[in-house]
Amino acid sequence: MKIAVLPGDGIGPEIVDEAVKVLKVLDLSFELESAPVGGAAYEASGHPLPEATLDLAKAADAVLFGAVGDWKYDKLDRPLRPEQAILGLRKHLGLFANFRPAICYEQLTHASSLKPELVAGLDILIIRELTGDIYFGQPRGRRTAVDGHFPGTEEAFDTMRYSRPEIERIAHVAFQAARKRGGRVTSVDKANVLETFQFWKDVVTEVHAQYPDVQLDHMYVDNAAMQLVKAPKKFDVIVTGNMFGDILSDAAAMLTGSIGMLPSASLDKNNKGLYEPSHGSAPDIAGKGIANPLATILSAAMMLRFSLNQPQAADRIESAVSAVLSAGLRTPDIWSEGTHKVGTREMGDAVVDAIVKTTKGITKS
Ligand code: NAD
Repeated sequence: MKIAVLPGDGIGPEIVDEAVKVLKVLDLSFELESAPVGGAAYEASGHPLPEATLDLAKAADAVLFGAVGDWKYDKLDRPLRPEQAILGLRKHLGLFANFRPAICYEQLTHASSLKPELVAGLDILIIRELTGDIYFGQPRGRRTAVDGHFPGTEEAFDTMRYSRPEIERIAHVAFQAARKRGGRVTSVDKANVLETFQFWKDVVTEVHAQYPDVQLDHMYVDNAAMQLVKAPKKFDVIVTGNMFGDILSDAAAMLTGSIGMLPSASLDKNNKGLYEPSHGSAPDIAGKGIANPLATILSAAMMLRFSLNQPQAADRIESAVSAVLSAGLRTPDIWSEGTHKVGTREMGDAVVDAIVKTTKGITKS
């Protein structure tokens, strides 16, 4: 098994180091190979996704990704900006299904910005379509308006579009995921205003006919945003398009206490995947040693489960994270009175120690 390790920018290298440390202590036989991506790759070779990095990602069984981006690159032409690297990887690897579980650990119910009773026991799964929608639709650009409210002035435009097969395949992913969980799918759209999402709703409904054992309901995205902060536990699986999923999953992240807790998996049709925390490169805290590495460590667990067929190793990581939280260790983003504040490295070390302890326990028994 070969894992491509792409740390990226900002806190990316700090948090990926901790996830790699955790993977290594599991004593599984895999090869890890690193390559620059994002701003780091632009600095090194003039492109955010160099061919060698893309080739490594294509050849690997799975990709462990940190984060890319920094405000200092905002003036670069768009194709050279760091964020193009992750968009390029999703496109070139065919990673159309993004899994973002939002689980509120019992130990962190007080770190959520919502009341503890609203988030205690929260376990929802957001499935975001990742290679279509307005983020990839063509044409896009800037031009002089020929109509609209201000003809003759400068305007910018993007294209929202979804094809039938794109919607069908993500709908299948969502219904199959729901079968392994609570058996309910909420499809989030904006069918009341957008043609693209009326089509989305129609196709999801058609696919649902093949899954009579799964309950389907539809919700407009504005209502879904409201329900996520009003009564998040009413959801089981949410399936939605690229842009709505981007926004809703960040909102869901806060339910869990911090965006630093939220892992993600982006899968192709064969379950080969790219695994990354749901957050960005957090330039505001980069280099300070205070970033929460748990989302990345939990992403590594998802990688073991989905792409590398090592569910027991994934369980060991997740149990270790839970043990560390039970022991009261908290990075600043999830810290609250009465808990012990630690930095990125100490948090990673603690997860490693917890794994080592259970390994010794297993060996003894
Ligand atoms: P962000 O997720 O990087 O940060 C938002 C806030 O959350 C910041 O206050 C940050 O300090 C905090 N935060 C994020 N991760 C954290 C962690 N692990 N521990 C503790 N706190 C954490 O989003 P942003 O500030 O909007 O974007 C920063 C850069 O990241 C931009 O260049 C953006 O384009 C990029 N970005 C990249 C990805 C990706 O690589 N997949 C995703 C989103 C944003």
